[in-house]
Amino acid sequence: MNRAARPKKSSSWNYFELTCANEVRCKLCEKTLVYHGSTSSMRSHLSAKHAKEVPTDTDAAQPAITNFISRPRRCDDRRAGDITALITNMIVKDMLPISFVEGGGFLELMASVEPDYRVPGRTTMTKRIEKLYKDKAEDLRRSLSTVSKVSITTSGRHSQLNHMSP
Ligand SMILES: [Zn+2]
Repeated sequence: MNRAARPKKSSSWNYFELTCANEVRCKLCEKTLVYHGSTSSMRSHLSAKHAKEVPTDTDAAQPAITNFISRPRRCDDRRAGDITALITNMIVKDMLPISFVEGGGFLELMASVEPDYRVPGRTTMTKRIEKLYKDKAEDLRRSLSTVSKVSITTSGRHSQLNHMSP
């Protein structure tokens, strides 16, 4: 039997999952595409949006994709959490719209620098930002009460030192 003639399962399935009978979702950017039983739209999406992380040459692609799937995740939960916190911080600090996390350019950048990281959607980011504001308000309240305690302690010690100096 000729090995080359055997039909190969399309490598596009490494990057897509079937969400229902006629819809697939890109694992890299969560975009959904209509599925008609052919992988051509998936392949064109991958080459248009994810050319950097998805090898386009099918012959060279097989081993690379195996590495991609089986290698230990570089981006573990802790690192993913750190990245999400940094993105949240960036949105707040630079006053970016929350929809920024769904922007094509940003997703391409993240896919290139951290291919294993799943950029959170707008809903998750909104919750994160709300939590950040709550935490910041709490921090501020706490630091204000510490400041007033410190200033009382300092002035107390100061007068004591004056008293003790010759
Ligand atoms: Zn995609």
